[in-house]
Amino acid sequence: MNTEARFQFVCPDCEVTVAVDTAKRTALLAVGCVRCGAPVDDGAFATA
Ligand SMILES: [Zn+2]
Repeated sequence: MNTEARFQFVCPDCEVTVAVDTAKRTALLAVGCVRCGAPVDDGAFATA
């Protein structure tokens, strides 16, 4: 049974795509894109 939330992160700046869980989503919102460092907001995530 998989109850863990999954999200698809797509950077609005460099367009890197990463599958993330809730913890990684929170980290990205705090520190920005892992690749280019662009600020990340809720709009960069889609539920997978
Ligand atoms: Zn980026």
